[in-house]
Amino acid sequence: MLNEKEIFEGAKKFANEMIKEFYNRTNINVKIEFVEDIHKKKLELAKSYEERESIISEKEFDKNTNATLIFPKFITDIQLILISKNVIVNTINPNQLVSTIPHELAHVEDFYRFSVFNKVGNLNDAMKCIGYRGFYFWTEYNSKRQGYDFYRKKLNWDNSSDNAVEEIKNREFIWHLNELKGDLQKYKSKSKLFIYCVIQFIGRFSVWNDLFPNYFNVTTLPKELLIMFDSRIVNLYNFLYENKTFEDIKYKFNELDDLLSKLYPN
Ligand SMILES: [Zn+2]
Repeated sequence: MLNEKEIFEGAKKFANEMIKEFYNRTNINVKIEFVEDIHKKKLELAKSYEERESIISEKEFDKNTNATLIFPKFITDIQLILISKNVIVNTINPNQLVSTIPHELAHVEDFYRFSVFNKVGNLNDAMKCIGYRGFYFWTEYNSKRQGYDFYRKKLNWDNSSDNAVEEIKNREFIWHLNELKGDLQKYKSKSKLFIYCVIQFIGRFSVWNDLFPNYFNVTTLPKELLIMFDSRIVNLYNFLYENKTFEDIKYKFNELDDLLSKLYPN
């Protein structure tokens, strides 16, 4: 058994390898910091009164989060990723970091590209751009895909046999669907969290779709979701699955926003 110090050393080493590979591929500078309390750290790093206020309003969201990005003043500055220490010492899933880091790096790259695309040099200005809400949920879809796909490959999970399909159907699928059902109940009056949970579920489902298209595809979406959302979930799923890359979707963030508004009418 590794002790806590060795676990942290291993986590830092893995983070540094991932950062290096990311920099070589994207030329974007990233730093990762492991923290005790994400919400507290965000408040500490807030640069203005407005920012503090908006962080306070997201307290509940932060409590459920494993990691977050801190936007620097300019997109060319170092991007900071905060990761909760709970991720490293997670006894239920000791390998959670293997998906969390690529997940957050995908967000960094997406925010960077969204800012460049909108010709803003500051990530906070990017949030005021047209289509930002659609982008915000699309990057969650993309990051979920990237993180989960990387995780399966890195841990050498079976990605080809019929056994793997059974394993997913009987365990992962059921577990995540139950989580989702609980979350949708819990967040039924909170649109952002509600949509966020749906997006995360279909992000993961879409990786199964990539790997085993005969078993996981738009016609095999869980019946619970079809009962709850009817064709709206089908349209959303198809749209996301057809727009997996930033290049695919960059002119269509408003279209996504419309589909999401139908899912959760305000
Ligand atoms: Zn995310």
